[in-house]
Amino acid sequence: MSFKIKWNPSPNFSVGRRKYDYQTESILAIVNHKTAGKFPGCLSWMCNPQAEASAHYLITRAGEIYQLVKDEDTSWHGGIVNKPNWNLYNSIRYNPNRYTIGIEHEDYDGDGEEGLTEIQYQASMWLHNQLIKKYNIPIDTEHIVGHYRIDSVNRPNCPGNAFPWDKLFTDLKGGTQVEQWKLDIIAKAKNMGIVSTDHNPDEPATKWFVLAVIINMIEKYILKIT
Ligand SMILES: [Zn+2]
Repeated sequence: MSFKIKWNPSPNFSVGRRKYDYQTESILAIVNHKTAGKFPGCLSWMCNPQAEASAHYLITRAGEIYQLVKDEDTSWHGGIVNKPNWNLYNSIRYNPNRYTIGIEHEDYDGDGEEGLTEIQYQASMWLHNQLIKKYNIPIDTEHIVGHYRIDSVNRPNCPGNAFPWDKLFTDLKGGTQVEQWKLDIIAKAKNMGIVSTDHNPDEPATKWFVLAVIINMIEKYILKIT
């Protein structure tokens, strides 16, 4: 599934990525948020100078992705650190806005714990994948975090209990980054009767699977058992 990013600039940002350690200037992590209100109010608020807050991206419940601040600039989404629970921050001790990308998700549990809509989830996963590839962000809980990890006192519910962390990590690590040539090999093997179903080509092969492939080949091409 592919998504388009709509540019909707906010004045709430700092130019560039000040060198947090005076040596490198890079994007190290993604911080996920949940907005306090529904779209489009949440978008206009983040574009209002009075808010003094923003994010790089906003994903609506309809699955639309808005970009408010360029990746190479610093958005104001998680600069206040209060009782953090984040080793990456502890090792840097510098304003997290400077080395993170902030993604806001339109409020999804205002009336309970309904969670992201399916299309909102798909858009978020797609965006995560783009950023992970572009900035070589490791897929782990130190580099893809929630706002609550930065401010556990005033933002314990950002992005909230309904945020699908397990599913997101599973999907990000899963088949979404499989290259086409690997899928082509699986398809060819299936056509030839060497494997009987579709497989994730990056999955390790168990002994039974290796033996099954060999037996299939012997039966089909040597013994010619149909
Ligand atoms: Zn937040």
